[in-house]
Amino acid sequence: QAEVLKKVKDKPAITEDGKQVTLLANISNADDLEMMHDNGGEGVGLFRTEMLFMDRDSFPDEEEQFEFYKKAVLQAKGKPVIIRTIDIGGDKHLSYFNLPAELNPFLGYRAIRISLDQEGLFMVQLKAILRASAFGTVSIMFPMISNVKEIRDAKLILSKAKNELLEAGVPFSADVKVGIMVEIPSAAVTADILAKEVDFFSIGTNDLCQYTLAVDRMNEKITHLYDPFNPGVLRLILNVIEQGRKHNIHIGMCGEMASDPLATLLLLGMGLEEFSMSAASIPAIKNIIINNTEAKAKQVCRQVMAMDSSENIIAYLKEITQ
Ligand code: PEP
Ligand code: MG
Repeated sequence: QAEVLKKVKDKPAITEDGKQVTLLANISNADDLEMMHDNGGEGVGLFRTEMLFMDRDSFPDEEEQFEFYKKAVLQAKGKPVIIRTIDIGGDKHLSYFNLPAELNPFLGYRAIRISLDQEGLFMVQLKAILRASAFGTVSIMFPMISNVKEIRDAKLILSKAKNELLEAGVPFSADVKVGIMVEIPSAAVTADILAKEVDFFSIGTNDLCQYTLAVDRMNEKITHLYDPFNPGVLRLILNVIEQGRKHNIHIGMCGEMASDPLATLLLLGMGLEEFSMSAASIPAIKNIIINNTEAKAKQVCRQVMAMDSSENIIAYLKEITQ
């Protein structure tokens, strides 16, 4: 098996009937990029920036953030990098950011909600990312979007950041794409509305699953309920892909489901064209893609979407994935 995976590494991810998909890596810092290149990753679908903010005494300033992002962009060697703005809050706590304890941290003050509330902090991060964009192909992604106003507000602040850099004569790329994580059910349901505001979606199945099923993704007592193959979750994912395609924007997935071999054909059949995962999983997913057809994947999708329970769905997917 290891030998087989090594062989597929440098092949493009194309099905037997010619459907090409993009396989990207999720990273947390520049060091992860070696793995991305080694496993045949075509870029970064999710750069989680939280790591820079954790385990320290104060917020990193613009210069420090710029260096952190630039290093990753340079090490991507021209491959595209999607940088996600901070997803602090929830389970990711900052000791120096004195926030009161919350009853429901996962439903609380986190991610884009903090960024929009603390415009100064947001501006610093956006300017640092924009500056890094001068060194490669960079996109910006906003996490935990629940409505269209958050996107519009975030884009407004982004344009302010661009103006400040322009006025100061600081270089940045003129075509930084802007996208959102689709990981809150309201965003998935209104994908047709949100698609008009952005260049791309990335489906965050970890949180989408948690919020759709009302199952805390960290609570071990209820892991059996945490189920991406629940028909409710699958319908949301399909809606996001279909609406995104209809509005001609790029659709990726960066949650764990993208690296689940059981889900690959189903997602391909739904029309997903970009899978982002930990680099180590890329060869196995590519192996599935190059040994199957899009026609079969579409058939799998039709079958699965007509089923009534995740037990049936999983049993069927296991059978056809052998
Ligand atoms: C997700 O929610 O699926 C995701 C990719 O983001 P994170 O795991 O960082 O919350
Ligand atoms: Mg998430």
